[in-house]
Amino acid sequence: MRVEDERQKNFFNICGTCKIDCCWNARPPITEKREKIILEYLKAYGIRIENPFEHAEYTFPRETSEGYCVFYDKATRKCIVHSVKPETCVAGPVTFDINTKTGKIEWYLKMEKICPLAGVMYSDKALLAKHFEAARKEILQFMRELTPKALKAILKREEPDTFKIGEEEIEGEVLNKL
Ligand code: SF4
Repeated sequence: MRVEDERQKNFFNICGTCKIDCCWNARPPITEKREKIILEYLKAYGIRIENPFEHAEYTFPRETSEGYCVFYDKATRKCIVHSVKPETCVAGPVTFDINTKTGKIEWYLKMEKICPLAGVMYSDKALLAKHFEAARKEILQFMRELTPKALKAILKREEPDTFKIGEEEIEGEVLNKL
């Protein structure tokens, strides 16, 4: 199978030493398309994980008994599906919200206290701009593919300790789901 092109720069040099565990209680939303891609990837690489997804108001990777994402390798502190991981995992520490009153998608960056990578990006504006470009592309496509039910459910999730870095008009196709 074709492994997707590198969707995100490898930040393991920063994330690998971080002690915050953002893959704990993460529950990143998964579209039907992403679920298929990840399942194909697991199969192609002979990675056996029983029932890797939980299907609730929206689909997300099952959690271990300790609350870690089932794709998180505690020993290496890496994501075992890095090249095909969920869109919101690629986008992090950039995150988003939709303001239905203004019809805009608002972009946020996590604060350094909850994500050291965000601190690195904030002090290296060229890195942030490059990462934001990739994050924006992933998130916009992700929202087009999400069902209305899943989109409504994920927008209810609170994301504290973030600050706004921009906003733009959202496509009518996405707004109509809300
Ligand atoms: S999919 Fe990978 S990056 Fe995303 S929460 Fe799970 S382990 Fe972390």
